[in-house]
Parts: sequence; C-alpha cells; structure tokens
Amino acid sequence: MTMAKAVFVLKRVMLVMGLVVSCTAVAQRTTPVTQAEVDAITRDAILIDTHNDVPSLTVDGYDIATPNLKGMTDLARMRGYLGAEFFAVFVDAEYVKGNHSANRALQMIDTVRTDVLEKHPSDFLFATTAEDIERAHREHKIAALMGIEGGHAIEDSLRLLRDYYALGVRYMTLTHFNTNDWADSQGDFENPKVKKHNGLTPFGKDVVREMNRLGMMVDISHVADKTFYDALEVSTAPMIASHSSCRALTGFTRNMTDDMIRGLAAKGGVININFGCDFLSQRYYEESKKREAAVKATRKAAEAMPAGPDRDKALAAAKAEPGIPPATLEDLVAHIDHAVKLAGIDHVGIGTDFDGLSCVPKEVSSYNKFPVLTRALLQKGYSAEDIKKIYGGNMLRVMRAVAKRADELKNEPPIETAYKP
Ligand SMILES: [Zn+2]
Repeated sequence: MTMAKAVFVLKRVMLVMGLVVSCTAVAQRTTPVTQAEVDAITRDAILIDTHNDVPSLTVDGYDIATPNLKGMTDLARMRGYLGAEFFAVFVDAEYVKGNHSANRALQMIDTVRTDVLEKHPSDFLFATTAEDIERAHREHKIAALMGIEGGHAIEDSLRLLRDYYALGVRYMTLTHFNTNDWADSQGDFENPKVKKHNGLTPFGKDVVREMNRLGMMVDISHVADKTFYDALEVSTAPMIASHSSCRALTGFTRNMTDDMIRGLAAKGGVININFGCDFLSQRYYEESKKREAAVKATRKAAEAMPAGPDRDKALAAAKAEPGIPPATLEDLVAHIDHAVKLAGIDHVGIGTDFDGLSCVPKEVSSYNKFPVLTRALLQKGYSAEDIKKIYGGNMLRVMRAVAKRADELKNEPPIETAYKP
C-alpha cells in the first residue's frame, strides 16, 4: 500500500468511526415509542425545574391552587409531573434605586413560604437538599426550593447572603439584567452609561467563595461572559446555569457559548435549558428584536395618555403578544441535544423559566406536557436513564457536590469582607 493510499484508508476509517461516535447520542429510533415507556419515565423521573417565576404572581395574591389562565404554573398542572421546583426569588433592578432590594427579596421568600408552602402543606414540602427532594418524591409531594435571581439582593453584604441561606435559599444568580456593584451582567453590557468591572470585582469573588462555604449554588444565567469565566475560576464547587440555552443555535446573549457550556461541565456543573421562545429559536429572536422598538414606542405613547379607559386599553394592547409564531418542541430538543453533545449526558438539565416569559413552545406549555418532551427525546434515541438524568438526576448530583464542598469548608471562618465602593 502506498503512503497516500494508507492515509486515504486511514481517513476513511476515521470518518466511519467519527460517524459512529456522533450517531450514538442521536440515532433516531427505528422502533415506535410506546406509551408505557413514556408513562414509566413520568412516574420514576424526579423532574427538577431550576427556575420558575410564579412567586412574582403569588406575591400579589395569586393562589397556585387556582387555574393560572394566562400563565404556565398551577397545582393542577404540576401534580404528578413535577418533582421539585426552584421558585425564583426574583428582585427587579428597580428595587436598587431606593435601596429596597433586600426588602423585596424577603417579601419574595415569604410568598414561597407563606402563600405556597403554608397554604398547601399536602402538596408541597419545604426542601433545601437532594435528600429532601427524594423524600418529597417518595411522599408524592412537590419539593419547594428557592433561588435568588439578582445578586443586588444582598445589598453588598455577605451577612445578608448568610441570612438568605439560613432562610432556605439554595442558589443565587449573580446578576439579573443589571450589572451590580460587584458583577457585570450581560443585560446592560452594551450600555456605556453603566459602570463595568471587567467581570467579578474582588468582593464579587468573595461572594462566590462565601457561597461555596455556605453550600449555596452559584448560578451564572444572566451574567456577562467575563463574569462567568471569573466565577468558574474562583468557585471550588460545581456551578449551574439555572435558565440558559445554547448561543450556537440562538444568538441571544442570555444563552451560553459552546466554550462556556464545556467549561461549566468540565467543573461538574449543569446547564438547565430555558424554554423561552427567544432562547430557543433564532427566527423568533430576530423577529421579536425587530419589533422591540415598535412595541416600546406603542407602550410609551400609551403611558403618555391621560388616565382613563382609553389609556388602560392602549396599555393592554401594548402588552399583548407580538404575534410571532412561537419556538417549537423541535427547537427545544435541538438545544438539549446540542448541550448533551458538547457537555455530555451528565451536565444538562431543565430550567423552564415558566411565568417569567411570555412565549414558550405550545407543545410544552406547562409541566403536564412533559410526556410530550419525553416522547420526543425517546424518539431521538435517548434512553430512559438519559432522560432521568436530564430531568433531575444531574441536578441532584450537583446539589450533593455543593453540599459536600460546604462540608469540607465547615471549619473555615465566615468571610468578613466588607464591600468598599
Ligand atoms: Zn431570568
């Protein structure tokens, strides 16, 4: 065999091997998916949703046991499908202005504890650990956990961070759409008026270290790319993205690049895929961006109108859906599959962002629709074990690893760094 021929044969062999390898994760099934298979996964999997914004409704009086007609989350659609909910303790950037962020965070924590847990004790179980989640599953209850969205909630104090941990908060998204005093957000990255830090400040790094010491998961959804890389370097426990998808498929900068997904996974973390249409569909993202300016103008004009029924009508119209066809189940499966190919089956999860979004794929508009996703993943070639990992097994592992790291650090003194402007 000549050298050229040998190289040719070798290339052919490598090509065939490459095809075999890349096909293992995605080989379409040749046999039909049975309802029994889907039902078994619905029954056995512990579905953990790492981000749900319904507390923003319950805090204003919505009872989760009543049908949420315009929304995505209510008891009837959770029961029997959802194993654990991370309720978002979302603190809007507006609260920074009058220094009311901690006040709002405490009100949001209270709505989870009072309006969800205390009102519905036979449906929800207060949970902070992987073991609690497994116990809730055995008792046919939904584990209720909390994650703070927006690091400004600690008002630049590690003491407040510890208070939140004591109240049961088990992750914190380092920023929301706003850069805070110690971490850059992706949300205002292009706004020249916002003072940036080039990622995390020294205090911001201490926030991450103190979260590691406490056993609170570091969540990097919403942060600027540099903040992500800084946190990845500093954190000695696996981190999560509580509600992000893949930027390689949809250019929305809230999504993670391939390199970020690989980096997160290499340190044991999990990317929990966001169900929002603009996270999942490049078409939807581009269309909604194009209409953003028009929607803003309509809203501004409505706000300028004198108070009365005409203004109310105009405001309601400005809030209405832009009428773009939503992302689809196929888009969602494509993001899950892309993340699995990059990061491996052990590093992908579910972070719906339900009720924090106006648009999700119609096929999976709430928890009771998850069997549709299960069927699609089975059809794509995923095994029951794979799907159980994505639905919750991977997050249980991360929670245990974060708790284990905190245990290793338990003799370390609390970090006392005071924030200096
Ligand atoms: Zn969010």
